[in-house]
Amino acid sequence: AKARGRNGYAFYAPSMDGEGLERLRLETLLRRALEKNEIWLAYQPQVEIDSGRLIGVEALVRWNSPELGQVGPDRFIPLAEDIGFINQLGEWVLEEACRQLTRWDQAGLYVPKIAVNLSARQLDRGGLAGTVERVLRETRLPAHRLQLEVTESVIMNTGDAMQYINDLHAIGVELAIDDFGTGYSSLAYLKQLPVQTLKIDRSFIKDISTDANDEAIAIAIIQLGKSMNLAVIAEGVETGEQAAFLLRHGCRRAQGYLYARPLPPAQLQAQWGHQHHA
Ligand code: C2E
Ligand code: CA
Ligand code: CA
Ligand code: CA
Repeated sequence: AKARGRNGYAFYAPSMDGEGLERLRLETLLRRALEKNEIWLAYQPQVEIDSGRLIGVEALVRWNSPELGQVGPDRFIPLAEDIGFINQLGEWVLEEACRQLTRWDQAGLYVPKIAVNLSARQLDRGGLAGTVERVLRETRLPAHRLQLEVTESVIMNTGDAMQYINDLHAIGVELAIDDFGTGYSSLAYLKQLPVQTLKIDRSFIKDISTDANDEAIAIAIIQLGKSMNLAVIAEGVETGEQAAFLLRHGCRRAQGYLYARPLPPAQLQAQWGHQHHA
């Protein structure tokens, strides 16, 4: 949107054009979505490739808007960040994910870990460790069953990221680097962070059997994880061929449509409920 020239009218301000109105509408609806129970969490299984065993789930936020239909997180998470709504939303996600894990525990479905995505705004405010501690206390969840996923850009764009991440580590929660390989973090940086898991970005997995570069990158990440003693999980695994490739190169964990789509909690329980506590 551009200003309409020197003698344009005040009511043609840039925020009042079609795009601006659309965004304003989205913003208004999003702010009310939480209290109207339009927001929910889908859970995508993470599995051990050779055994098919469930090792964890990733919580992925969903918005069913009566006015707009299904809105994807790629659309409303950046908006939530822009309008200062992400902390409220992020805290709800954290609470709900932890509550769900205890619900499954009580129902006899043992999901070892729950992974929750963090946005930059949540980390750089500080105080996140306090919130995480409170949620764990209230849900009585052992800290090691919660894994927080941060992207490289979240880390690089947060002043004091190292401090905040150390605070989270001190509580005992696990940390995963999401979309690994797409950002620009240095390996030296990685070495200093108390990270347990690398998630190979879906973009490298997609063409693994046809693109030599992607193949090389995936192998390099697996090797890096091995030498740094980190768990490596591949995301976006859609074919048996991709899974076989990963296994052949020493990556034993995966997440993707080959195993399951992100599912509502009841559906996850129905499909994975036969896996009981070891
Ligand atoms: P992400 O964290 O990288 O999540 C993985 C995305 O890949 C999810 O998209 C998931 O549905 C999709 N996916 C999983 N397996 C496959 C597959 O085999 N093939 C393909 N093509 N896609 C697959 P989704 O749920 O639309 O989420 C998009 C992004 O939104 C997430 O990317 C994450 O960055 C963000 N997001 C989602 N939930 C939250 C949340 O609670 N908080 C924050 N801060 N961000 C979230
Ligand atoms: Ca993620
Ligand atoms: Ca990811
Ligand atoms: Ca992503």
